[in-house]
Amino acid sequence: MSTPMHERHADLFHAGDLPPPAELGDGITVLPLPLNGSALRSVMVYTIATSAGIVMVDAGYRHPTCWDAAVAGMVSAGQRIDDVVAVLLTHNHPDHVGFADSVREASGAEVVMHVRDDFATQRHERGGFLEQLSAVLASTGAPAEVVTEMYDAAVGVAVHHESLELDRVLTTATTDLVFGDTTIRAVHTPGHTYGHTAYLHLGARALFTGDTLMPEGPTQLALAPLAGDDPAGDLLASLRRIADLDPAMGCAAHQYPYADVARRALALHDHHAREVDEVARLASTYDTAWEIAPHLTWAKPWAAMGPGTKRFSLVHTHALLRAVRA
Ligand SMILES: [Zn+2]
Ligand SMILES: [Zn+2]
Repeated sequence: MSTPMHERHADLFHAGDLPPPAELGDGITVLPLPLNGSALRSVMVYTIATSAGIVMVDAGYRHPTCWDAAVAGMVSAGQRIDDVVAVLLTHNHPDHVGFADSVREASGAEVVMHVRDDFATQRHERGGFLEQLSAVLASTGAPAEVVTEMYDAAVGVAVHHESLELDRVLTTATTDLVFGDTTIRAVHTPGHTYGHTAYLHLGARALFTGDTLMPEGPTQLALAPLAGDDPAGDLLASLRRIADLDPAMGCAAHQYPYADVARRALALHDHHAREVDEVARLASTYDTAWEIAPHLTWAKPWAAMGPGTKRFSLVHTHALLRAVRA
């Protein structure tokens, strides 16, 4: 558990309700948007008021309910979508990049993301999302009929906006982005994806953490289709890096904004390090992710998992096994 910035926001999240937009100080506003039908319940977009205009962090899902909630939330905060000068994307997942190009169309904002999550780069390195998933499932040791079932189920939900074009591509470990009176430091934090980037508002010491760490629960590791991929090792390094930054506020993309970021980052680091240790222990008895996954500790017992949860757990185990063998 982490300490919420606003108890009410956390209470509404726990009750399964959508919290209203809220000011977090230093010109930062949180806009919770509905993710209907998703276990994540909601995704949060943040706006940062600067002397150069509004900077938006992440861009929800590509769905009218998300877009309408973002526009209405900005209006309630006295902001307008056409005042947005930049959309800073934490990573290239469908619930984060959804309406980035609609904001650009409305305002001329520049869309910013790390090169390793740029679709063209990803496709060159690892193939498209479904090709990556197919390669990973094929190397988990799962029976062919399970692989087919899991892949077919993923195709149905993998609405992935992979063609988004970027105006500015981040290529270094840190990049300072200056918007009038406000400097935002882009910090490369791979693990959940290879190009995941957290954004540190230097004045407010607020860190926009995307999906790298949330106030509650584990972090989902990136697909690891290549032999050299080690998203678990990447995530552990990213969490240590976030703890070193010691932010005053964590602006997560799901759940709620929270206060004790460094403590939370270290606790999550230890959780995933223990997972790697557990897989290392099991790897002396078993060969494949498919054999190991049922023996790990999950929120729900392996046998009780639906096919979607089982797929997430299996590709997570596959990534942990990469860390063991790296
Ligand atoms: Zn994500
Ligand atoms: Zn997400």
